[in-house]
Amino acid sequence: MRADVLVVGLGFAGSTAARALADAGFRVHAIDRRPHLGGNAFDKPDAHGVTIHPYGPHIFHTNSTRIVQFLSRFTAWRPYEHRVLAKIGEQYLPMPINRTTINRMYGLNLDEKGVSVFLDSVREPRARIVTSEDLLLSTVGRDLCRTFFSGYTRKHWGLELSELSASVAARVPVRTSDDDRYFTDSFQAMPADGYTTMFGRMIEHPLISYETGVDFDGRSDTTAYRQVIFTGPIDSYFQHRLGKLPYRSVEFRHEHHASTPFLQAVGTINFPNDFEYTRVTEFKHLTGQMHPGSSLVREIPRGEGEPFYPIPREENHELYKRYRMLASAHPNVTFVGRLAEYRYYDMDQVVAAALAAAQRIAGRLR
Ligand code: FAD
Ligand code: UDP
Repeated sequence: MRADVLVVGLGFAGSTAARALADAGFRVHAIDRRPHLGGNAFDKPDAHGVTIHPYGPHIFHTNSTRIVQFLSRFTAWRPYEHRVLAKIGEQYLPMPINRTTINRMYGLNLDEKGVSVFLDSVREPRARIVTSEDLLLSTVGRDLCRTFFSGYTRKHWGLELSELSASVAARVPVRTSDDDRYFTDSFQAMPADGYTTMFGRMIEHPLISYETGVDFDGRSDTTAYRQVIFTGPIDSYFQHRLGKLPYRSVEFRHEHHASTPFLQAVGTINFPNDFEYTRVTEFKHLTGQMHPGSSLVREIPRGEGEPFYPIPREENHELYKRYRMLASAHPNVTFVGRLAEYRYYDMDQVVAAALAAAQRIAGRLR
């Protein structure tokens, strides 16, 4: 029997929507062009048996109990709070910037109040906060902005802070306390058996069939389905008819060190000013795996290659809006996910968007 819904993409967006629709009684067929489940959150053991994230480090964090409840049907969790150090000259300083960062960087001994006063003395208030540069100059001032953000951003995006929406730098808070966690969400944990296992359980349902290694090329016949859910890049669905939406790509350079259980003090080291890579992540911190060796990934941002990041700036959003207009003429196709909605979504936000989309679709198909 033909499925009611075709889902293109088996990452967080597609897998969540597939499962929610199957739970609602609809028959779902799902495909992904990659040979595996999980989209960019896919994980697997490398050749040495260390669990790695081939598409870069994925740390789960959310403030939504609803999202935790949904995912907890498919996985147990291992509590994990991510920590990041930025290498500045010969020093490793906490990132996000906190009391320790400022005291070590400037050789000070300020308390929390002192750090607030310090930040007040260096910030350059702006009447309007439009770009990431506006945001950073008005919160941490020129020196901290240049030291921690300008070089990293130039490498990561190939753009200046002044060319990116304020929302990009707003992802990273500034603290006057000693809190050195990268995220402060109420729930921070990793799937106990990994992301791929969690995805496998999510799509294991009598009403879901799926295939990996199958491409959907926009000319694929969808007439047999009542609804299509597309989770790839929205411009690719329309064969780039209105022009290419810009994405940033990353080369993930993986390495293994035998007989060295840990090379880094924390999960990730950021390199804002030196080298072509932005950060290095050591997976065993994230997964808690015991192993005599260690595997790391270096992220080298690229202009060309597989799309990983939508680029948040006004002109790109305008082009995306024109694709949305096109999409609105195709009510039987739903676009959901980070590339399909051209939004700098974290994993939990994708789950939320996919659950909402599935609910809308179920209501319509009923
Ligand atoms: P994807 O995971 O991209 O899945 C889309 C799937 O669709 C892909 O598998 C693709 O192969 C398939 N597809 C696309 N087009 C087609 C087609 N035409 N035919 C067939 N299949 C197709 N989020 C966090 O919350 N925490 C983190 O620590 C974190 N770290 C990240 C690190 C990096 C380097 C990156 C790039 C992202 C990170 N994210 C993180 C974001 C997270 O990866 C995304 O929010 C989430 O994985 C997006 O899910 P998705 O289903 O929308 O897209
Ligand atoms: N950023 C920076 N320096 C850092 C960390 C982040 O300049 O040490 C900026 C940079 O522009 C980056 C953005 O803040 O792209 C968001 O950082 P985040 O760690 O959220 O990026 P992601 O994990 O999504 O790649």
